[in-house]
Amino acid sequence: MTGFVFSEKPIRIARGAGPHLYDESGTEYLDFGASYAVTPTGHCHPDVVAAATDQLERLMYVQGSYPVDARDDLYDRLAACAPGDLDYTWLCNSGTEANEAALKFARHATGDSKVVAATQSFHGRTMGSLAATWKGKYKQGFEPLAGGFEFVEYGDAEAMAAAVDDDTAAVLLEPMQGEGGINPAPDGYLAAVREACDDHGAALILDEIQTGLGRTGTMWACESHDVVPDVLTTAKGLASGLPVGATLCREWVAEDAGNHGSTFSGGPVVSAAAAATLDVIEREDLAGRAASMGDYLVSELDAAVGEDVRDVRGEGLMLGVEVRRGANRLLPKLAMNHQILALPAGRTVLRLLPPLVVEREHCDAVVEAVAEVMG
Ligand SMILES: *Cc1c(COP(=O)(O)O)cnc(C)c1O
Repeated sequence: MTGFVFSEKPIRIARGAGPHLYDESGTEYLDFGASYAVTPTGHCHPDVVAAATDQLERLMYVQGSYPVDARDDLYDRLAACAPGDLDYTWLCNSGTEANEAALKFARHATGDSKVVAATQSFHGRTMGSLAATWKGKYKQGFEPLAGGFEFVEYGDAEAMAAAVDDDTAAVLLEPMQGEGGINPAPDGYLAAVREACDDHGAALILDEIQTGLGRTGTMWACESHDVVPDVLTTAKGLASGLPVGATLCREWVAEDAGNHGSTFSGGPVVSAAAAATLDVIEREDLAGRAASMGDYLVSELDAAVGEDVRDVRGEGLMLGVEVRRGANRLLPKLAMNHQILALPAGRTVLRLLPPLVVEREHCDAVVEAVAEVMG
């Protein structure tokens, strides 16, 4: 073994198609983790593959200061599907970079430095995003991180109102926390945070890296809260598995965003794959499917294991089953006995984040398997 850092799973994946992954011997696995929400359109969606391949053959890369159709097309599509007036896009290569840019832009545009984040948050692993991430296990041994970050209880609007002041550059929140345990924002919370930001001229940054792109049943999770942030970050599934992130900004942030850049920003191949992904999400109404399939999955899970678990929660196809004892012990059984791949979220939550193309029969198989491994 010459690689390091990742702890490896005992299944070697050779191929993917739709909601399925296959190992080298051809065993089929139902992918209910989508590798952390990276494949909303399913594995190797033919339209995305075709768009990327076509672009790969014409132009792999040119520096960002030369306009190219693929990048401009993606800018237009992102602005068209963004909530409200988030018309200005910065492109990068990952979620953590999208958040780093959001934090830099907010500090520059406001002239302030303080950032308020929430308990149980996860925003990425580079020095700035990591400073906005709650859990000690991600930060241990890497200090000092970027300064100026404060944490308040997620969901507590009063604590947020008390923390945001005239020195605040930004509030950074997930509209539903993923890594922290599948914690939806309480009703009215995001609207209250929006008001606190408006009162003090701070930028509201919503991290939709896990919640966005149809996953929670609307294109962006903030839509169901009727809140438009000043900056919205997306990544993960945006190019169906090729590395891309985007920081969508309102004009007041974009026009005074300061000096930022990255060599691979808006490369033509990932831009073409991302535009094709947005196309598929729209054309196949994957947000609508996430909403209806999510409702179905929750009611079936409630019926099958509702009595045995603490909670089944989430929205659309971003669901958590909070069990009474370690969720981690269930995952190998799901994988090895039922060929179903899922994820943890913290120690007690089994996280389901399937590709948005899953059908009822796939949900039925998962419900049956979850009931079996818990029994
Ligand atoms: C995954 C994730 C990130 C970090 O994205 P990377 O591409 O791994 O850097 C940030 N925020 C949220 C909410 C995420 O789920």
